[in-house]
Amino acid sequence: MLTYNPGSLGGVAALASGSRDTIEEAHMQLARFPRVRLAHLPTPLEAMPNLGRLLGGPTLYVKRDDCTGLATGGNKTRKLEFLMAEALQCGADTVVTQGATQSNHVRQTAAAACRLGLTCEVLLERRVTTMGPGYETTGNVLLDELFGARHEFRPAGGDMNAEAEALANAISARGGRPYVIPGGGSNPVGALGYVQCALELVSQATDTGIPIDWVVHATGSTGTQAGLVAGLQAINSGIRVMGISVKAPRAEQEANVYRLLERVNQHLGAPSVAPGAVMVNSDYVGPGYGQPTPEMVEAVTLVARHEGLLLDPVYSGKGMAGLIGLVRQGFFEPGQNVVFLHTGGSAALFAYESLFVG
Ligand SMILES: *Cc1c(COP(=O)(O)O)cnc(C)c1O
Repeated sequence: MLTYNPGSLGGVAALASGSRDTIEEAHMQLARFPRVRLAHLPTPLEAMPNLGRLLGGPTLYVKRDDCTGLATGGNKTRKLEFLMAEALQCGADTVVTQGATQSNHVRQTAAAACRLGLTCEVLLERRVTTMGPGYETTGNVLLDELFGARHEFRPAGGDMNAEAEALANAISARGGRPYVIPGGGSNPVGALGYVQCALELVSQATDTGIPIDWVVHATGSTGTQAGLVAGLQAINSGIRVMGISVKAPRAEQEANVYRLLERVNQHLGAPSVAPGAVMVNSDYVGPGYGQPTPEMVEAVTLVARHEGLLLDPVYSGKGMAGLIGLVRQGFFEPGQNVVFLHTGGSAALFAYESLFVG
């Protein structure tokens, strides 16, 4: 079992001298679950000195999960290490998944399927219809094509998981062996990728002597935050996580993350944690999922020009807009170390060209 001691909010530096053993033990517990290697790990933990200086306030770092290495990288690759292992274990010959038109999850799943010799069939939900003619052919959709994933579009607002099940049934009926991956790879299996990331991050913090106070990242289908919180709690790291919602209102997203967190802890055989461990800010969603906001455009531009770093319009741009907003509001204390978990997504930039040109 992963060890869990409730209490302490003292940061990594305050961990007992046994912390390395605790992390090692947690790694061993994770090793019980089947996993295929797809990601370049560990991803770097880097400083963002220019952005930090520009904004004032806490010291800013970035955990480079945009550099997981699979088909331009991103957070879904860690989840797919566990999901694809289960697909192989089930004897699947096809993976079925779904996402929005510019889904990074679909793109990474399509690439992982190529790597493992599986067929990939996907459903793309038309959640965004206002971005012009290239939106359904460029960016992630272009890469889905290149990886040979068969895709079909669906109108917005349907039950996409039910649609994916129906597609899987049709594949079974014609003699295939489909494995269905939920949207965003967010179930207790996929979230193990972020339990692992939590351990990796705390190891890096311990090795470099940087006591991390906060992790901030974009939250959507909830697997990233649920896995991170489960992992950080399991080793009693004291690191707090703030999810910046890209879609749902705060209370709804917190409940969604917490629901998956409970299932992740059950899957791990770990005790449940208090709901207060799940913190979401939904002030940066704007008009809706995938819809641009001035704060997102500012964040993408600022981070590009001051750190030479690429964000994306749907997730990491809004996540960074949240981080910048919170710094400006004085949410963090000056001496704190704040890590932006860069979840990737820059392939979608090309589908939003008009926002950044001229
Ligand atoms: C999917 C995704 C997220 C959100 O992660 P969830 O686990 O779905 O909450 C954040 N950023 C990018 C770039 C993504 O593709």
